[in-house]
Amino acid sequence: MSPNIPLAGRYDADVLVIGASMAGLLAAAAASQAGRTVLVVERDSLDGSLGPRKGVPQGHQPHVLLYRGLCAIEELLPGFRTELVQAGGVALDTGYLAWLGEQGWAPIGNAAFELVSATRPLVEQLARRRVTALPGVVLRDGVRVAALERDAGGSAWIARQTDGRTLSAPLVIDASGRASRLSVWLAEAGFGEVRTTTVDAGFGYASRIYAAPVDHLAPAAGILLLPTPSSPMGGVALPVEGGRWMVGAVGAGDHCPPRENESFLPFLERLRDPALADFARSATSLSDVVIHRRTDNVRRHYDRMPAWPTGLLAVGDSFCAFNPVYGQGITVSACQALLLRDSFNAGRVLGAERRLMQRLGQVAELPWEIATGEDLRYATSQGELSPVQALFGKWSRQLDRLAAHGDLQAQRALDRVYHLVGSPMGLLHPLLFWSALKAWAFGLPPRLPRPLEREVRTAHSMALPNVVSS
Ligand SMILES: Cc1cc2nc3c(=O)[nH]c(=O)nc-3n(C[C@H](O)[C@H](O)[C@H](O)COP(=O)(O)OP(=O)(O)OC[C@H]3O[C@@H](n4cnc5c(N)ncnc54)[C@H](O)[C@@H]3O)c2cc1C
Repeated sequence: MSPNIPLAGRYDADVLVIGASMAGLLAAAAASQAGRTVLVVERDSLDGSLGPRKGVPQGHQPHVLLYRGLCAIEELLPGFRTELVQAGGVALDTGYLAWLGEQGWAPIGNAAFELVSATRPLVEQLARRRVTALPGVVLRDGVRVAALERDAGGSAWIARQTDGRTLSAPLVIDASGRASRLSVWLAEAGFGEVRTTTVDAGFGYASRIYAAPVDHLAPAAGILLLPTPSSPMGGVALPVEGGRWMVGAVGAGDHCPPRENESFLPFLERLRDPALADFARSATSLSDVVIHRRTDNVRRHYDRMPAWPTGLLAVGDSFCAFNPVYGQGITVSACQALLLRDSFNAGRVLGAERRLMQRLGQVAELPWEIATGEDLRYATSQGELSPVQALFGKWSRQLDRLAAHGDLQAQRALDRVYHLVGSPMGLLHPLLFWSALKAWAFGLPPRLPRPLEREVRTAHSMALPNVVSS
């Protein structure tokens, strides 16, 4: 990948990052911005071809980047958004998505947040190109770390590769994803067992690529049919680079979408609304169906271990992975990278790892509460909602109901929390209580109509306000 420039000093680098996916790349960008040399190692061979790779099997599935994540990546890699659009990513406004929530269709046609829709491999390839061009960053692919040990002097880590060779650095950042072996390495190093919390609603994904013009659904920019506890099947259709659309289907437990091509359309036909099935019938399929089943929320409580070693951090899915239905993983990794960068700049990394792990854990806190707060409502999950989750969940559904009856203020408040740009306290604004009170006293206006039915008649006859110019 990057030229094999020799790294200065006793060690291979100031920072060794394990895993060159989104969390690892963004952590490397953070360390580089703070003037550190970084060696990123990746078990896959990264031959430059654009396509899902073995180490990131979720690359076949639809990925959305929440607005908070787009802003955080832009801060770490300025110009990233424009480059993604230039590479074919489709800039759209989430306020123009035909979005069927639990309580009905959300308002459509009002500016909300920008989303640059692209396949996961394109996003990752661009991030890789940008990060490997940063000063002091070297990426070595085809390198699998098999074990992690302290060096004899105790001042650095030795990463042992599967071929027996070693790498050393005073700081190691584990970004090796859900399948990370860090908990095993820590136990072997005498730090004890890490406590893990898992909430698994048993969601499965299936996806397929279709060919259709980018404005196929205009003026709707795409379709999102949310699964709900009473109807645990949903799906999405979004335009991606290359005049293609990514169509994803999700379902929980016995409702997981099947892997056979011929079963994909019948699955879409069983959803709460025919929009996705209509879409699939009106477009041309370009790929086979690919499924993915590992979607549990998993939190390894490294931040609560009684002792934490110096020179070690964990970020991204290795630390906390979410049910991807809520689209939070990359955003959390990017926000953790910003925190890392600021900590490096403030000189609060080496010697302050335990505190930093707690702060990295706090970055994942709200997304965790959102994802598990929803998943625990499914019959397929085990566990109880916390009182706060139950209360916020109930109030969010009330706001969702107001939004489905045309209350834009309620929709905006929910959008801000969903995109992780606002605190959930924003849901407690007095005007929202006032709207709820009015609805209780005088009743609700009619539910919003199905946007596609309404809009399809005018499709192609309107300007496309949803496409944001690059
Ligand atoms: C089906 C699905 C859909 C998703 N959709 C979204 C979405 O819409 N939006 C969103 O933000 N997030 C989504 N996610 C989550 C997102 O993919 C991750 O949160 C994000 O990629 C950050 O993960 P990561 O970099 O920590 O780990 P990963 O992406 O899993 O990458 C880990 C990397 O480490 C490498 N590696 C592992 N072990 C070793 C080793 N021993 N030595 C060297 N290298 C190693 C792997 O090869 C891989 O490159 C989705 C996930 C799934 C499963």
